[in-house]
Amino acid sequence: MIYDCAIVGAGFGGLGAALTLAEQGARVVVLEALKYPGGCASTFTRGGWRFESGATLFSGFDEGQLFARWIDRHQLPVTTRVPDPIVELRTPSWTLPITARREDLIARLGEFPGAPRDRLADFFARQSSLAGALWSLFDDPALLPPFGVRELLTHIARSPRYLPLAPWINRTLADLVAAHGLDGFEPLRIYLDAVSQITVQTSAAEAEAPFALATMDYYFRGTRHVHGGIGVLASAMLEATRALGADVRLSESVKALTPVADGWRVRTRRGEVTARQVIANVIPQALRGLLGDEARELDGLTRRVEGGWGAAMLYLGLARDAKLRAEAHHLELVDDPGAAFIEGNHVFCSISGADEARGPGGARTVTASTHVPMAKLLAMTPDAQGEYIAAVQSAMARTLGRRAPELDAATVHRLTASPRTFARFVGRPDGSVGGAPRVRGIGCYQGMLPRPVRPGLWMVGDSVFPGQSTLATALGGAKVAGLVARQSSRGA
Ligand SMILES: Cc1cc2nc3c(=O)[nH]c(=O)nc-3n(C[C@H](O)[C@H](O)[C@H](O)COP(=O)(O)OP(=O)(O)OC[C@H]3O[C@@H](n4cnc5c(N)ncnc54)[C@H](O)[C@@H]3O)c2cc1C
Repeated sequence: MIYDCAIVGAGFGGLGAALTLAEQGARVVVLEALKYPGGCASTFTRGGWRFESGATLFSGFDEGQLFARWIDRHQLPVTTRVPDPIVELRTPSWTLPITARREDLIARLGEFPGAPRDRLADFFARQSSLAGALWSLFDDPALLPPFGVRELLTHIARSPRYLPLAPWINRTLADLVAAHGLDGFEPLRIYLDAVSQITVQTSAAEAEAPFALATMDYYFRGTRHVHGGIGVLASAMLEATRALGADVRLSESVKALTPVADGWRVRTRRGEVTARQVIANVIPQALRGLLGDEARELDGLTRRVEGGWGAAMLYLGLARDAKLRAEAHHLELVDDPGAAFIEGNHVFCSISGADEARGPGGARTVTASTHVPMAKLLAMTPDAQGEYIAAVQSAMARTLGRRAPELDAATVHRLTASPRTFARFVGRPDGSVGGAPRVRGIGCYQGMLPRPVRPGLWMVGDSVFPGQSTLATALGGAKVAGLVARQSSRGA
């Protein structure tokens, strides 16, 4: 049998693509190396404890948004909750609860001594309108990018909305802050550095303004905690795909991709399949390995991903009687606001809910992560890398101890992970995660139009447009699936 499409990897890029193609009646095979889906956004069990592997807080769940639409259409058994606050940002001198309402944030920032309230209101009004223009694109995969006549006409009708973004292309988020006379207002700088680091993967001083403005809405657009862990959503999406007739193969890693007359031969751990088209949910370095040649067309993308990040992780099991808020909650901890928000100085920390039974006797778990600069890590010898990662994990523990002593005191079980763990676990060479940072420059816009790497071979995932996050990768997967289906119907 020749499949219409083989999907390599069931991360959220592959899951979004698989479900969309299966909905359209395509003959799909999903090949996932692990025995469960989700990749960097999965939930794993070790020694009786259940942890989020990487991602912990997810957008796209408000009515009409992508995940909400899938949950509704396929009656997925997924329960979500809007944490209140969504995140608590803790620094040495203050704590800022960030709720799902932009007005609350503006009001809180306005309470800082000497806060320039009018300028803050103007800045967020502008951010909101510019972000709104971009999100109208992101929310509708059919419009992104405008390949068909209908989409093109819709874009032309909408173009006045995008025009205000034009002056900010090739400028940074910090430039926009300065244009509003807010560059001396330290609480805003810290807030923006924190949110930029976890979304566009760089500081406000370096972030390409339009991308950063759009992702600043992260907390305000359907952001939720998934009860039981994000693995619940990943598994539900995969089951929905299977129920629509897709062939789903777990523990089936793909070893090689070879072009053949009628498509691609996909060699796997246990055999091979043939498909007219392939969607690879892997980073460019891994795709090169599967193609078995130099794949020079992936040079630029590879360099951008290598200029990004790895992750150092702490997974904590808490005592059953830990005295914490009962709901799942999220903390963003900054040890020294004057230093870069990486390498344990900045830790994103997510605590499961008391009703989720993640550990022995119903105990709770914590997933904590920090950014590790890939270029710095790769320049080291393997021994030096080991020492460096251990130092980063100690810095994480120190930040946790200072900013979240309640977690430190309740910890009874501890696991660590490094870029090396991610390389082994999700097949990302060197452990590069988070895609390409959206740093200032028009390079950011390269690859905005998904197109095949080679005839019939497509990429999805966080190294390609629209980039990092479960929502972005799922959206990109859905978009690419639409293009694949269109090509299949032309070829049929
Ligand atoms: C520490 C950390 C924290 C994060 N926090 C958040 C967050 O809070 N919210 C958020 O939205 N996003 C977050 N993200 C980002 C988000 O997790 C990722 O952008 C997204 O999950 C990446 O999805 P992906 O589809 O690109 O790839 P992956 O998740 O890497 O999935 C790829 C899949 O392909 C499989 N695979 C690889 N090679 C092969 C092969 N040869 N054969 C078969 N299968 C293969 C892997 O096993 C994996 O399942 C975080 C990421 C990290 C690392």
